[in-house]
Amino acid sequence: MNIALIAHDSKKELMVQFCIAYCGILSRHTICATGTTGKIVSQATGLDITRYMSGSQGGDQQISARISCNEIDLLLFFRDPLRPKPHEPNEMNLLRLCDVHNIPVATNIATAEALIHALERGDLDWRTIVNPV
Ligand code: PGA
Repeated sequence: MNIALIAHDSKKELMVQFCIAYCGILSRHTICATGTTGKIVSQATGLDITRYMSGSQGGDQQISARISCNEIDLLLFFRDPLRPKPHEPNEMNLLRLCDVHNIPVATNIATAEALIHALERGDLDWRTIVNPV
């Protein structure tokens, strides 16, 4: 499965802790991320992560493009709902595209926990059947 990671600045440490906790599961999948998120997660976990640009520089749009092409199977996007970002319209489009393409997406750690366990159980395997890319 192709998994994309994005974390706003105030959620980056949470993302790192999440990825350390679930490194064993994540290591069996292909991971990509926005620039800084990918850098700190790979430094903390040793995971091999394809890094795009920072969100503010268009990294979220690079991930959006991959979602449009059905190349992402799961998005973990730890958002800070209290601090709006200048590129928020792009982020809304990213989430819209997840709905268009039926991509499982978590915008907080509680949902991310549920989805990572679902991934481990094979509950998300239907994605490779529906979208054999
Ligand atoms: P970053 O981008 O991982 O490069 O910080 C994410 C964001 O804050 O939009």
